Amino acid sequence: MRMGGVLDINYRVFWPCEFFSQIPLTILLSTAAIARTLLSPDLPKKHVTNGNLMRKIAFGYSTRCNIRCSHCVAAGETPLAQKMELARARDIIREMAVAEVKGISFTAGEPFISFEDLLELIDLCSEKKIYTRVVTNSSWAKTPEQAREKMHLLKQSGLCQLRLSYSRWHQQHVPKQQVLYATEACQEAGVDSFISFVTDFSELDEPFEQYLRDNNVKFFPEPVIYAGRAENFIQQPLFTDYQDNCCQMNPYLAPDLTMYACCDAGSHFSSTNFFRLGSLNDWSVDQLLTRSENNILYNCIRTMGITPIASYVGMKSRDIVTYRKCSLCKKLFNDPETLSILQKAAAGNLLQWHR
Ligand code: SF4
Ligand code: SF4
Repeated sequence: MRMGGVLDINYRVFWPCEFFSQIPLTILLSTAAIARTLLSPDLPKKHVTNGNLMRKIAFGYSTRCNIRCSHCVAAGETPLAQKMELARARDIIREMAVAEVKGISFTAGEPFISFEDLLELIDLCSEKKIYTRVVTNSSWAKTPEQAREKMHLLKQSGLCQLRLSYSRWHQQHVPKQQVLYATEACQEAGVDSFISFVTDFSELDEPFEQYLRDNNVKFFPEPVIYAGRAENFIQQPLFTDYQDNCCQMNPYLAPDLTMYACCDAGSHFSSTNFFRLGSLNDWSVDQLLTRSENNILYNCIRTMGITPIASYVGMKSRDIVTYRKCSLCKKLFNDPETLSILQKAAAGNLLQWHR
């Protein structure tokens, strides 16, 4: 991995996914990143070491997609599919490099639709020593040869990792085998890859999981997020065992240059816009990321978790355990009244609500 650093500290961090899983990365941690976190005036000591010291961004270059999955969380964010100007995207990546962003995940719609642009942006990231990931639906890997050709070009640009989305919804549009072609092409090109198996954990998904096991590929199950097109899916009853539900919250940059503090369901909190950090038309990358890093409630989500926050505002434990993480988050932070209580608490005794 091409990462610059000053302190020479080998530090294990996790790259939590946009719409996704956690992949360990070994990075060299810079002094500035440490200083930014340790010197944050809003954070008491207990909440300083939140493990989110490396700046990473889910980069939504375009929300255009060539298929239409019925569970798509990206759907409904904007009325129409949008795309950034290539020159603006290049400027933003240069600005991100200066702001010490160390990882960019190209996501949102299907990044391969703008393949030439994608190569150019990855090339620029490589030049700036920014780790790159592309999230894709594998629709371009129609044959092993086509898959190889694309991966060869991506490797030349310096791509670090490919994340292949896979689910019973994706595979209504893309034959399962193409995900294997893409995986094999990654192996041949020497590009790290893994399959993100989006699932609602129902029996319907068992043959899809078995297919991955039969083909001996690396995959990670990811719970479907009930937002976007999946908002009205019937949800099976759930009883968790009272997990903290901490969330690292990588920021997401949308094609209209709005940045959100959360790269998953957070851009759908339309009643409060709780996760909206602002627009790059008005603020710099560094200002918006600093806003995310210094927000006390965000840091409570990162460090104490959503479950203790729900308990703090008075939710019964037996109700809390029936919520999925993002649904509980939405219940707390997309309700203006509850949010107002929490914002006052953040300036008061919320931070004392720990064991
Ligand atoms: S491939 Fe991804 S972006 Fe495209 S419709 Fe499916 S979930 Fe949405
Ligand atoms: S729990 Fe909240 S912060 Fe975490 S991914 Fe879900 S919506 Fe985003």
